[in-house]
Order: sequence, then structure tokens, then C-alpha cells
Amino acid sequence: MNPSGRLAIIMLGPPGAGKGTQARMISEALKYPHISTGDMLREALKRETDLGKRVKLFMESGTLVPDDLVNELITERLGFEDCRRGFILDGYPRAIAQAEFLHALVARDNTFVLIIGIEVDDKVLIERLSSRWTCTKCSKMFNAHLDSGKAGGLCDECGNALVQRKDDETGVIAERLKVYHRTTKPLIQYYKEQGAYKSVDGDRPADEVFNAIAGILKGRIQ
Ligand code: AMP
Repeated sequence: MNPSGRLAIIMLGPPGAGKGTQARMISEALKYPHISTGDMLREALKRETDLGKRVKLFMESGTLVPDDLVNELITERLGFEDCRRGFILDGYPRAIAQAEFLHALVARDNTFVLIIGIEVDDKVLIERLSSRWTCTKCSKMFNAHLDSGKAGGLCDECGNALVQRKDDETGVIAERLKVYHRTTKPLIQYYKEQGAYKSVDGDRPADEVFNAIAGILKGRIQ
């Protein structure tokens, strides 16, 4: 698996599959940065930057923001020193054009790209997203059905307030799943053809999903 080069791990899967949770766990194990375009865009929205103002309507309606905006964010972020050994992408690429852009971007460096697809049925995703509470500071996610006291409560990790994301509202969830099936899911076939796609069953506890991912990353995670 190219032990001397840089490793790019791409978390692929529908909204609510657990990409963020697993990316965080891998990040801790490998000490690679966890790069979530969704988190970066939400931060811009919160700070009301120019970028935040431009992406607000797209994000709140559950549609994708234009490729050039996320491509620019990723180009800048991957140039940071902490990405030198490797990085974990969560929520990017989300369309074939973004994957092609990323490929061209990392082609100059000695980067091995591995895609981990987390597979979960729509029915389970809808249930998960509608009961999801997210930390306003560290973005850790909790399920109000499984973790009592988390609805309107505080984050276990950093003690900050948990909120329901605007795009986790029922109508928006349906739109996000539609966008996933139409625009993002074709990436599975795209990466399968390149021989870079590995899938894990995401319909089980986070620790079990992580063990499966650790098996894929054998030698990298102890
Ligand atoms: P996420 O937190 O990954 O579910 O992303 C939340 C929202 O941010 C998405 O519904 C999109 O509006 C936007 N977004 C995040 N990543 C991307 C991307 N790679 N391409 C386009 N839009 C994105």
C-alpha cells in the first residue's frame, strides 16, 4: 500500500452512514488530519464569511454547493503541513468532476488513494439523521434514541451544546438522499473500476465498523 508515500483516505457513503464518526476514529489512530468539507462550509456559514454567504442556500436546502468552491477549499487545505503523511477526506469528493479534480491535484505527489465506502440502507439513514444531535464545537455526533439525554444536551467529548443540524430536518434529508443517489453514488462504480474501492457494512455499532476499516488499513492501524 505504498508505505513510503502519502496516503489519502476517502470516506464515501450517504449522509448519516457514519463517515464523520469513522473519519474521526481513523484520524485519532493514524494521526492524519480529518478534513470535512461540510464542517469547513458550516464554519464559513457560522462566521458569515463571503464563502458562507455564497453557500448558505445550497446547504440549507440539502443540495451540493458548486464544485469550484469546494475544489478551492480542498486545494488550500491539502497544502497544509499536517497533510504531508496523509489525510482523511469526509464528504469530498461528492461528484465525478470533484474526483477528477482531486486526482489531478494529488497526481504530482506520491499519493496512494484508498476509498472506504460505508454502506447503509436509506431506511436506516433516515432514522439516524432525524435523531442526530451534533456538537457545535467538535462536530461529534450522537443518536438521541441510543444515547438518552443527548437531545438538547451536551457533548461527551468537549462539553459544548448539541444541536440538530438544519439539514437534518425531514424534508431536507429526503433531498440529500436524492442528491446522494444521483450525483455521489456513481463514484462507487468510478472507483471500483480503478480498483481503489473497499466497502464496509455501516449498519452496526461504530466500533465494529472501525474494526472492519482497521482490517482494510492493516499495518497502518495497530
Ligand atoms: P456534510 O456535512 O458532508 O453532510 O455536508 C453538508 C452540506 O455541505 C452538503 O449537503 C452540501 O450542501 C455541502 N457540501 C459538503 N461537501 C460538499 C462537496 N464535496 N460538494 C458540494 N457540496 C458539499
